[in-house]
Amino acid sequence: MAEIKIENLKKSYGPVDVLKGIDLDIKQGEFIVFVGPSGCGKSTLLRCISGLEEITSGDLMIGGQRMNDVAPSKRGIAMVFQTYALYPHMTVYGNISFGLEMMGLSKAEIDKRVQAAADKLQLTDYLKRLPKNLSGGQRQRVAIGRAIVRDPKVFLFDEPLSNLDAALRVHMRIEIAQLSRDLPDTTMIYVTHDQVEAMTLADRIVVLSAGHVEQFGSPMELYDNPASLFVAGFIGSPKMNFVEGEAAKAVGAHTMGIRPEHIDASLEGKPTDMSFEGTIAFSEVLGSDTFAHVDTTNAGRMIARLPGNLMPKAGDKIWLTPRQGDIHRFDANGKPIGRLTSAA
Ligand code: ADP
Ligand code: MG
Repeated sequence: MAEIKIENLKKSYGPVDVLKGIDLDIKQGEFIVFVGPSGCGKSTLLRCISGLEEITSGDLMIGGQRMNDVAPSKRGIAMVFQTYALYPHMTVYGNISFGLEMMGLSKAEIDKRVQAAADKLQLTDYLKRLPKNLSGGQRQRVAIGRAIVRDPKVFLFDEPLSNLDAALRVHMRIEIAQLSRDLPDTTMIYVTHDQVEAMTLADRIVVLSAGHVEQFGSPMELYDNPASLFVAGFIGSPKMNFVEGEAAKAVGAHTMGIRPEHIDASLEGKPTDMSFEGTIAFSEVLGSDTFAHVDTTNAGRMIARLPGNLMPKAGDKIWLTPRQGDIHRFDANGKPIGRLTSAA
């Protein structure tokens, strides 16, 4: 069994508290994503789970066993990093099988595992190549293969796609999702600062901020019911618009949160009293959508997602009308106080 229980886990480097009491209950086979801004402690938490970092206080349980003082190699964990550190003088086969030789498995068993991993990762035709003759995505697949063959109970990934170009990232993201479907009993924890990766890969997302858990929930829970302004601003792309002042007061909030996709735009006059008047600063035309960056007269810069057939130009007038039931409201502490259900 590979459920992971983390209780009041703290990690300090000297006087600096990096993780400030983390509690997490992760089920066997779940795909968990740690997301949060750079420096919030994602890698540190992952390294505490793997055993590469010592835990300052609190408990880490894997499969019901306390792991705080268990050596990394005895935790049943495999880790894939951003830099894949393949052995340059070894073939793909050699790189994938290396750890197994160290484990003292028979040649036949090693070969069976390498072939199975290569098949899963579409590396069968490349087993005799050296890493320098592979693309970035293939190299990353070799790094994943090296981890898979050890048959880990828990798979840890630290920003494994950060070094790849945009198209390859999307491709590998889908492969990793497929891999987790192929290994339903393997618990996976995946670190990223990319909220699109988090939304698309995770069964549940842990949003970290400054060493504590802001929210732990399914992607749609985080999107629909963010537990704080921080989560609201972090999940969703483009990011949620925040409006303070008179307009927010009018709906009984300190801060009103409006997602770009929850705005109706009009280029021909003010539709309702709730509409914000503004001028297009610039439009990002994507074909499928247009993201209009609007300088409003009383709510600052807002972004609205428009249908792709609307392509207003810089300087054009525009009126933005948030859809009522989708308006998030937050108090002065950034805590949610519910959606706007009827006109206040
Ligand atoms: P993330 O992966 O979310 O970007 P990290 O877990 O790498 O963040 O780092 C969290 C914080 O811990 C950062 O402020 C970083 O400077 C600090 N930190 C990480 N490793 C060490 C270390 N070995 N010694 C001192 N501080 C560290
Ligand atoms: Mg990191």
